[in-house]
Amino acid sequence: MNKPKVFILGAGYGGLVTGTKLEKILKSGEADVTIVNKHDYHYITTQLHKIGAGTATDTKVALPISELIDPSKTNFKKAMVSSINSSSRRVTLDTGEVLEYDYLLIALGFEVETYGIPGIKEHAFQIRSFRSTKAIYHQIHKQLALYKEDLDPSRLTFVVAGGGFTGVEMLGELAEGIPALCQNYDIPSDLIKIIAVEAAPSVLPFFEEESIDYTNRVLEKFNIDIRTGAKILECTPKMITLENNVEIPTRTVIWSCGVKANSIIQDCGLPIEKVKLPVDSMLRVQGMENVFCIGDCALFMKDEKSALPPTAQVALQEASVCAENIAASIRKSPLKLFEYHHKGSVASIGNLAAVGKVGKFRLSGLFAAFMKKVIEARYLFILGGPALILKQNLNLKHGSVKLAAKN
Ligand SMILES: Cc1cc2nc3c(=O)[nH]c(=O)nc-3n(C[C@H](O)[C@H](O)[C@H](O)COP(=O)(O)OP(=O)(O)OC[C@H]3O[C@@H](n4cnc5c(N)ncnc54)[C@H](O)[C@@H]3O)c2cc1C
Repeated sequence: MNKPKVFILGAGYGGLVTGTKLEKILKSGEADVTIVNKHDYHYITTQLHKIGAGTATDTKVALPISELIDPSKTNFKKAMVSSINSSSRRVTLDTGEVLEYDYLLIALGFEVETYGIPGIKEHAFQIRSFRSTKAIYHQIHKQLALYKEDLDPSRLTFVVAGGGFTGVEMLGELAEGIPALCQNYDIPSDLIKIIAVEAAPSVLPFFEEESIDYTNRVLEKFNIDIRTGAKILECTPKMITLENNVEIPTRTVIWSCGVKANSIIQDCGLPIEKVKLPVDSMLRVQGMENVFCIGDCALFMKDEKSALPPTAQVALQEASVCAENIAASIRKSPLKLFEYHHKGSVASIGNLAAVGKVGKFRLSGLFAAFMKKVIEARYLFILGGPALILKQNLNLKHGSVKLAAKN
């Protein structure tokens, strides 16, 4: 009998962890599992900002997929998914290859939402993928080098648009990373201007007041110019324009104002709600028995009004249940209901400060920064056990990561 074919689209938090869990659950010969991803490396999205500021090495954040899966149990295909056709049960890749699935997991993650603001898509830098974030690092170097030639201060002005979780993490890394890079160009670091622009009345608007105050204090200590209640109207290669005709001359705008689900899902013949794939309590796309969706592409309603947010924490918890449910579907046994348990969230502000809440406890400062590192280590543990934690922290050698032409 033919083995059922399972395709997992995306090797991010959701897809990769589902794949590695299936390796443990499925018996030999029970199914043919293939992960498809556009790169042959997995990047730790929650640490991308460090790549942008040059405060982490590439190998800390991008890990070869071949070292994370067991090739005797899981196939890996490096390709870009071009389209999904749920009625013919086919996935088309950019190579022209067509995959016919029995079971499909869509875990293709997020895209950056630019809200149609003129110039953002064309001129702002995005914290979207390993490659797009590495471009920020190259841009900083380029601007420091060009400043030496023309002494144009706009080259030393770095704007982070969006003071949410990712924006604050990016600001902290830039504040620590850029002064170190300045030394290479013999540029006094006090000439650097880092500006935070946020449309809401405060940074981290969904955090408690004490946490917001703490964050402001740390950002101010870093000499970051915080502009809240400020809406961006336009971005050009040389400046951004805010409401009330405020213009900020800058060559580097880092856009961190929100994400949306991967647009590939829009035309696959599956139901769409709030631009995501609505899933039932077993993580199957509504009305489908053989198509699952998790992570940032999935719309999982936690109650009548609100959906789970697009976070790694959600994707990871979903991955665990999704792996069990794919195996149960193959075995025609009952599926498990997914229940989300929020464990808290911690945002780093550089290496030695962080802010957040874990369980009932509000955290800030050095202890919060330590907790952030514990959370990062926990993810490595889920992915590759204690061996991966040791490998990453002792800087043992990986295969090097080659950047794909497209991100
Ligand atoms: C800078 C930053 C910091 C964050 N910090 C936190 C945090 O501290 N805590 C938290 O809980 N969440 C955090 N998040 C959110 C979290 O990273 C996402 O919610 C999580 O990555 C979603 O997982 P996913 O599996 O849905 O998608 P992803 O992890 O984005 O994975 C999607 C995968 O699909 C691949 N892919 C995309 N399109 C295609 C295609 N067409 N063909 C083939 N492959 C494709 C991508 O390359 C990627 O490997 C952060 C996000 C960012 C950007």
